[in-house]
Amino acid sequence: MIPVTKPYLPSREKLEDYVDGIYERKWLTNNGPLVQELTKRLEKYLGVENLLLVSNGTLALQIAYRTLGVNKVVNGKPAEAITTPFSFIATASSLKWEGINPVFVDIDPETWCLDPNNIESAITPQTRAIVPVHVFGNPCDVEFIQDIADKHDLKIIYDAAHAFDVSYKGQSILKYGDASILSLHATKLFHTIEGGAIIFKRREDLEKAKKLINFGISAPDCIDELGINAKMGEFSAAMGLCVLDEVEKVKEKRKNIWDIYRGALENEIVMQKWSDSSVKNCAYFPIVLPSEKKALDLMQNLGFKNIQLRRYFYPSLESVEVFGKHKKLPISQDISSRILCLPLYPDLSDSQVKMIVELINE
Ligand SMILES: *Cc1c(COP(=O)(O)O)cnc(C)c1O
Repeated sequence: MIPVTKPYLPSREKLEDYVDGIYERKWLTNNGPLVQELTKRLEKYLGVENLLLVSNGTLALQIAYRTLGVNKVVNGKPAEAITTPFSFIATASSLKWEGINPVFVDIDPETWCLDPNNIESAITPQTRAIVPVHVFGNPCDVEFIQDIADKHDLKIIYDAAHAFDVSYKGQSILKYGDASILSLHATKLFHTIEGGAIIFKRREDLEKAKKLINFGISAPDCIDELGINAKMGEFSAAMGLCVLDEVEKVKEKRKNIWDIYRGALENEIVMQKWSDSSVKNCAYFPIVLPSEKKALDLMQNLGFKNIQLRRYFYPSLESVEVFGKHKKLPISQDISSRILCLPLYPDLSDSQVKMIVELINE
């Protein structure tokens, strides 16, 4: 069976060394030494500041909204955030969970990221934020989005769950917006089993978020914010430190597979248009087929051969019932109906990749 993805497991000996340390210290969570070490090493590796590790990417989004005040009601009505329908459910459900109504606007037909040209007409007096996604790690039009946010005094929170180590114009893409979040879930390029991170633009927001993830406690006898528990534990950080030591190798293997796919897939298949100024991380390999039927047939045919393709992202989020009734967004509907992600993980061998390509080109 070739699954669409497989978690990367690093050197077990090294992990056991870290576990020995945890057993000696008996410090399992609450900003332990391994969480502190991973924080510093990630800041250095990614070239960012003000990074906060949390328990998962969804809570990273929720904490970011709260820290930036996006959830505050406006004139007695729920706040709104403008976001993309072409993403994983957590982008929009995290908003809803915080009492913020997601307002979906359509995507660019080539980059598949939120099209900034659609933002301004969706702004209302309730709008507090824009929540774009660097989808499959492809940078959004960050300058255009920043201009709109400045003009209308809106916060920007990037869902950068796919954008670990993506750079844009020579810098980390995570430096854009008021905050960017990473998911460090087991299936992501870099992971801590479960985990997430928030990268804030401003130090004071980082300080506030540190309290929010620890029940709002600011000192032993002092609770001055409404908080929650979103802390990362030491075993997760140990896994992260081990994966980080091998992440260059992980990236190389992914790039190798990515390049084979890219070079070998034929005519009818459409691929994502990449931002010119970015260095990609090869986290996903999505293809768009000429029709929904062709996509479903291909998925089924490869399924018979025990090769898993995944409709990712499907359905387009504006048609998910939990968000209420929304007008269908044609571009996102169209892409999501025809898209498939191909298997991509470091253990996949060249011959397996070539076999997949041959079956797709058949
Ligand atoms: C994985 C993912 C998330 C959620 O992250 P978790 O760590 O699984 O909570 C959010 N947004 C996007 C786009 C994702 O792919």
